[in-house]
Order: sequence, then structure tokens, then C-alpha cells
Amino acid sequence: MKKIIIGIALLFLFVVGGFVEKKEWIQNLIYYKDSYAIDYNVTMKRDLLCLMMAYPEYITTIDSDSKDRVYIVMKSGKRILYDDKIKKNFEDKLNNPDLQDMMEQVYPLSDITNLMPKDFDPGRIRVYSLLKEVYGGTREEIQLNLTKVKCGYRYYPFNRKNNASDALKSAMKELVALIEEKDIYSFVFPMSGTFNYRFIAGTNRLSPHSFGTAIDLRRDKKDYWKWASREEGQKRLDVYPREIVQAFEKNNFIWGGKWSHFDILHFEYRPELILKARYFSDRPGFGESWYDGLPSDDDIIKDYIDLINRNLK
Ligand SMILES: [Zn+2]
Repeated sequence: MKKIIIGIALLFLFVVGGFVEKKEWIQNLIYYKDSYAIDYNVTMKRDLLCLMMAYPEYITTIDSDSKDRVYIVMKSGKRILYDDKIKKNFEDKLNNPDLQDMMEQVYPLSDITNLMPKDFDPGRIRVYSLLKEVYGGTREEIQLNLTKVKCGYRYYPFNRKNNASDALKSAMKELVALIEEKDIYSFVFPMSGTFNYRFIAGTNRLSPHSFGTAIDLRRDKKDYWKWASREEGQKRLDVYPREIVQAFEKNNFIWGGKWSHFDILHFEYRPELILKARYFSDRPGFGESWYDGLPSDDDIIKDYIDLINRNLK
């Protein structure tokens, strides 16, 4: 009899306990599902806004189809998909990215002391259909868009579209002024180059140098993850002058030193990533709108926000 009572008591506790746990579990699930949906929409709208701000002459609008797939619409009429909803590992994202994959990792604008953790490579994922629309679809088209930018005593070709060459001019002006005060000359000159139409070694992906939107400063054998061990890369990172990095970041260039697949001599014009880093590194505060953090007095940005709110309900 005693055993039966204990048995019933245990069963009772088990059922009640299980129920309480289950209820909490269900609530958590609902919470996570909701916050995931909210985060997804916030991130999507922010990504699209950064893209519109970064490529203002090339992206005309944002659109969605009957299946709720979202696109940026280019000046040419071409539509580029935001999210293909395909589950991908890091390699898949490099080889077959959508805009969401490209914007996913937030580039750190603050300084770093250690090389980035495995596969944290903000900017290494590039949507070529977008780059081709903006900077030129073929080698010939890109070459027609190149202009010469004075870097030290030499001129280097750089793409004039979307302010890229102006941004390089401005970064070089800052660097030249810095060289007067700081001992950074030997990190900058002789430069290793800008435009070079080529595939990334061992891949079928075009290098950003193919578009004339990236510059390599003075080469050191510890600069690139394929040439050097992580320890060697870390040593190079330790001594690399951050004034150089800041001069480029201020002008919408990202630095390959902030990639786990480090490329320390490499700077690349990627306004969409710098904008996202500048304004949207954090989730919006409680009760704040998705675009919280942006300068609210800019009419062009306001128009973009309205357009995104209108077109994506
Ligand atoms: Zn490079």
C-alpha cells in the first residue's frame, strides 16, 4: 500500500513537473520564434537600407513577389534576391551568396588585437551580380570605368563609379598627411597594386581587384593567410599601424586584417558594410524602430526608410 501511495505521489509530481516544464518550454519556443521573426525583419530592412545608401545611383527600389521573396531592383531593371532561403555552410556562402549572406557578418569598426575567429570574414562574401551592375559587367566595361588616382608618386587605376575613386583619393590624402607625422611610410609604399582582372587563386571567384575597387599596400610575406601561419599573421597584425586602417575605414573601405582568412595589405571599397557597421552594430533598443541610430535629419535616408516600410509590410 505504502509503495502504491509513493508511486502515485511520484507520478503526480512527474506529471505536474512535466507540465510546468513543458509550459515554460512552449513559452520559450514562442518567444524565440517571435524574436527570430522580429530580428529577421529588422536585419533585412537594415541590410536593404544600407545597400540603398551605399549604391544610391544603382538601386532604384525594393520589391517583393507573390512568394514574399524580396529583391533590390537595379537601375538596369535587374532584380537581385535578398534571401534565397537555402541553408549554407561558410563555403557555400562564399561560392553562392545572396545579399543576406553578404551582409550577415557585421564588420567591426573598433580596433582588434587578435586575428578574427574561424570563418569570421566580414566582406569576403561578395554578390558579383551587384558588383557587375555597379562597376562593370565585363573586363572591358570595367576598364572603361577606371580612372587614375595619385598614390604617392605614382598613379593607380581605380573604378570611378559609385564614388570609389573619390573615396580612394580622400583616403590617400589622409595617408600622405599621416606619413608626415607618423612612421608609417614603410607600411604603405611601394604599393602592390589596385586593378587586376583575375580570379582568386584556387577559386572561380573574381578578385575584388578585378573591379578596380581594392588596393593592396606594401606587401609583407606575413600578410596573407595562404602565405603565413596564424602566428605570423598575428605578429604582423600586432605591429600594423591602425592610423592606416582608420584612414581607409573613414572612407568606406574595409580592411582584410579583420578577416580570419587575413589579408593584411588589402583594403576594399565596401560602403554597404561600413554603413551597417557604423549604424547597426547593435539590435534596436526596446521599443525603438528598426532604423534607430541613423541620422534622422537626412531627407534622402528618410525617403529610403519610407520606401522600405511601404514596400515590405
Ligand atoms: Zn588585395
